This record gives sequence, C-alpha cells and structure tokens, in this order.
Amino acid sequence: MSTLCSENYRHFYNALQAETVSSDDILNLVPGALEYVVDELHIGKFEIQIELAASSSEAAAYNKSKVMYVSPDGFDYMAHARVIKTLDKGRVSFAVFPQKGYEWNDEEKGALDHLIKNLFIIMAKARLTELVKKRQLTDHLTMLPNTTSFSMFARDLGLKGILGQYTVIFSNLKNFSYINQTLGSRAGDIVLKEYANKLKDMFSTGEIIARFGGDNFVALLKDENVDKYLKNISRINIPVALGNQTRTFTITARSGIYSIPETMSNPGEAVTRANISLEHARHSGDSDRIYFTEQILAQANREREIISEFKKALSRKEFIVYYQPKVNLTTGAISGCEALVRWNKNGQIIPPVQFIPVLETQGMICELDFYVLDRVCADIVSWIRDGITPARVSVNFSKHHLRNPNLVDDIMAVITSHGISPTLIEIELTESASGEDYVMLGQFIDELKTHGIFTSIDDFGTGYSSLSLLKDLHVNVIKIDKSFVDNIAGKDKRDRIILGSILTMVTGLGMEVIAEGCEDEEQARILKEMDCTTIQGYLFDKPMACEEFTRKLSEKFIYDVSL
Ligand code: C2E
Ligand code: CA
Ligand code: CA
Repeated sequence: MSTLCSENYRHFYNALQAETVSSDDILNLVPGALEYVVDELHIGKFEIQIELAASSSEAAAYNKSKVMYVSPDGFDYMAHARVIKTLDKGRVSFAVFPQKGYEWNDEEKGALDHLIKNLFIIMAKARLTELVKKRQLTDHLTMLPNTTSFSMFARDLGLKGILGQYTVIFSNLKNFSYINQTLGSRAGDIVLKEYANKLKDMFSTGEIIARFGGDNFVALLKDENVDKYLKNISRINIPVALGNQTRTFTITARSGIYSIPETMSNPGEAVTRANISLEHARHSGDSDRIYFTEQILAQANREREIISEFKKALSRKEFIVYYQPKVNLTTGAISGCEALVRWNKNGQIIPPVQFIPVLETQGMICELDFYVLDRVCADIVSWIRDGITPARVSVNFSKHHLRNPNLVDDIMAVITSHGISPTLIEIELTESASGEDYVMLGQFIDELKTHGIFTSIDDFGTGYSSLSLLKDLHVNVIKIDKSFVDNIAGKDKRDRIILGSILTMVTGLGMEVIAEGCEDEEQARILKEMDCTTIQGYLFDKPMACEEFTRKLSEKFIYDVSL
C-alpha cells in the first residue's frame, strides 16, 4: 500500500484539485496527473470511457472515450477494468493496462482500484458542480438560458466593449394566453418548449436567446442578424398532440427592438429599453415590431411618473370631479350629469386621457373610481343641504371592477355612508369584449338594480356585442357613442339610418337613450327629430367644476333647445 501514501500519489491528487468547474476540465487534467504515478504503478495505458443518457439535466446524450496515458515503451493487453455506474443511469468505464511484460500483484491491483475510485469521485464532484451551475443558468421548462445567464453573457460583452454591435429583441407571444386558457397549462408548456426548440436554431455563436419567464423571450443578436430573426419569429408553426389528434398552432410574437449604441455599456438599460418598446407595441396595437425611440422612452417615463405619484395625489385629494350636464331636448332642463375626473397637478388641470389609460393598465383605476364616487356623494349631500334639487349623477366604473366579488357591497357602502338615496347614482359601464366578463357584467347590473342604483352602457356601438347586449343586459340607460353623432349631419344617409334604428330599438325595449358628444345644432335637430330625448355635449356645456355646475343646478338653468 506504499503507493497511496507516496509523494507521487499526493502530486497526482493535487494536480486534480485545481479550481475547475466542468467535467471536461477535469478530463483535461487527468493525463498530467497520471504522469506522477504511472511509473510507480507500472501503468502502460490508461483509458476512460464515459456514457451518459440524455436527461432533464443533460439535454443530449454524452459519449466520450479518451486515452489518458500510453507509455512510449508499449503496454500489455491484460487490462485491469472497472465500470462504475452513475446515479442517473450513466456509466464510467476505466481500463488500465500494465507496462509491457509487467504483471500486477493483488496489492497493486487494490492500489489501482483506489486510484480509479478517487478519480471517479473527483470527476463526479466536478460534474455535479457543473450540473448545479447549469441549472442555475438554465430555464427548467425550455432549457434555454435564463435571465441570470443572459445577464452574465451580456455583461461579458459589455466588458469586452462590443455591446454596441448588438441588438436586444424583447418578444412576447401574442396568442399564448389563449392556448393556456382554452387548452390548459400543460398544452401551454408543450407549446413553450417546442417554441424554444425552434428558437435554439436561430442564433449563432456569440449570441444568446433567453427565456425571461412566462412567454417572454429576449434575444441579444449581432445587428446584422436581426432582420432574419424577426422574419423567422413572425410566424412559427407548432404541432401539439392533443389526445389522439394533432393541432398546429401558429405562434406570432410581438417585439420591442433596441439597437445598442456604441456608447452604451450597461446591458440592463438596453433590455429595459427593448421592454419599454414592447409595452408600447402592446398598448398602441399598431405594429408587432416596435423599434425604440426617445419619444417612447419619454412616454414610458411619464407613465412611470403617473404611477409613482398616483397614491400621493389621491391622499392629497388632487383629483377633482367635473360635471357635464345631460340636457332634456324637449324642456332644456338639466336631467342629470356625468362625473368626469381631472387631476389638479400643481394648479395645472390634467385631462383624464393623460392618466386614466395608464391607471387602467395597472388596475389602479379602481381606487380612483371609488374616490370619485365618494366625492360625488359628498357633492350631492351638499346640494341637498343647501336646498338644491339634486341631479342624478353618473359615475364611470372601469371594467377592472368586475374582478371584485364584493363590488356591489363596496358601492353601497360608499353611498350609505353619505346617507343619500341610491337612485341618485348611476354607474356607467363600457361594453366588454370577452364572454366571461359579459356574464359578470349582467350579474353586476342586476344586483345594482335591486338596490335602486341606475346603470348605463357607455360608448354604445363601439364594442363587439352591442346588439346582443341590448337583449341580455337590463340597464336603464344606453349612451350612444360620439362617433355615431359625429356623422349624422353628413351626406351619407346610412349613419342616420343606423342611429334611427338603434334609437327605435332601445326606446322600444324601455331604456333611456342619451346621445353623447353633440357639438352643433344641426346634430341636435336631427337627434330630436329621431325622438332622442337627452343630449350630453359641448353644444350645451363642457364638463365644469362643481361650483359652476352647482350654480346652474340651483338656478334650475334652462338651455335653449329651440333648434
Ligand atoms: P366618457 O366616459 O365617454 O366621457 C365623455 C367624454 O367626452 C368626456 O371627456 C367629455 O368631456 C367628452 N365630451 C362630452 N361632450 C363632448 C363633445 O361635444 N365633444 C367632444 N369632443 N367631447 C365631448 P373627458 O372628461 O376628457 O373624459 C374622457 C374619458 O375618460 C371618459 O370618456 C371616460 O372614459 C374617462 N373617465 C373620465 N372620468 C373617469 C372616471 O372617474 N373613471 C373612469 N373609469 N373613467 C373616467
Ligand atoms: Ca362615461
Ligand atoms: Ca362615453
């Protein structure tokens, strides 16, 4: 057993203890390490064969045979062979041949076994380290690099000073949530996996495509390869076996693209810019490929500012409610009004188009709507207290509220806390595209009705299901969208015919109609002719601050309706 304690064996062992991580690195060190012990152990040849099956941790099978040492003086063929199985059904075979004319005794064979075992342990440890490392850098579902891996790769390019030769493409699959929702997440996973497999063929050395969670994929490609990649991902067919049939899904992607300038060395900022462009593509709906511009960045910064300032603004009561009268076309009297919010930001009145769409994307709109409802109730209370006959006020409620199972209770809680009659409040809702929302919308409307709260459908005619909505939803009021009113005075008679039919249908069903956005007398005259009783529009008044509206209410203001 002298060998195991020998100086040479210590050299052999130390030579394999370098700061190595990969199993390939270890294999490369073995020949040098063996040099220390071959004479002492009379080794003529040393061969290792590694066979590993493909597995979840190893994408492809691995098969390698390597001669680690051959003596220049030759060797005998009577091998001392050992096979060691790995835990994941792989095997490592060692074959050691004696120097020419030499025969090992049992003690020497024992020493050889010990050497083999030690070598195996060192190799296994290296492989394990390698696998753990790989797992930390790989997305488990798709086996693409993950965000950590992407960051390391990109940082490396930054350090080499060549990031400027690259473009970041941040992509999101367009119809993926449909697949996930209709066929289940298992089918969704298959699609993601297959999709990732296709992506694996789309980049060359020095480039990377990573999965950034969900159905987000980020590519860092050399500028010259971008167009080809975008073309490749514009439509990808993925066949998916579902039961005994195969369905092919055509996957399209939406991408934000940022070509990194020479001056930029921060890859994180580059990814953010591509992501901002993708968000822009998603919201604008103009194109599936949006290239970053400074304007997009400015808009994203404005939006970020709105989101970060919103809560503070709400607590400081910076949001104020304007009222726009609804005018009875026969009498000229104010028959009600709509509450329309504004943001008083350092004395500057910001219109809702500039912040409501942003709050909608974050779901923050719900808080604002409840705030407006609360302010409206307070204004109604002060009208009643001052002896003014209150007008029924309609309040806009975003469709985000439909996710709230306690919505009606929450609304009632606000109204009753002010002690006013629920019949003074009307909730305006817009048509909704998806079927699920539609059912919820119906239930919500019916529940509000049982409490005496009025309901209306806003922007009627702009959604997908306008006509079936008339049949299924039991709302009190239909608000005809401005776009219909805009064209009724034009040459084309068709707009008038459509609007006339809608009016007949709605009034026939016992609902009230309000035409929105009426700007001139000609439009009002035609609407009156068609038996539309109520109008809301600039022709009579723009939305106004509460004091001004209160004055009009208290004087029982009559608009001139002699058209
Ligand atoms: P909307 O609910 O369709 O409100 C009507 C919009 O049309 C108002 O714009 C009003 O000022 C405008 N308008 C009324 N008559 C005329 C007209 O004759 N000509 C023209 N050109 N415009 C007219 P506003 O106040 O800027 O509000 C825009 C949108 O913001 C609203 O459209 C509504 O969707 C949203 N919004 C306003 N306040 C709230 C709120 O408290 N909550 C929610 N969720 N949305 C709100
Ligand atoms: Ca409205
Ligand atoms: Ca409207």
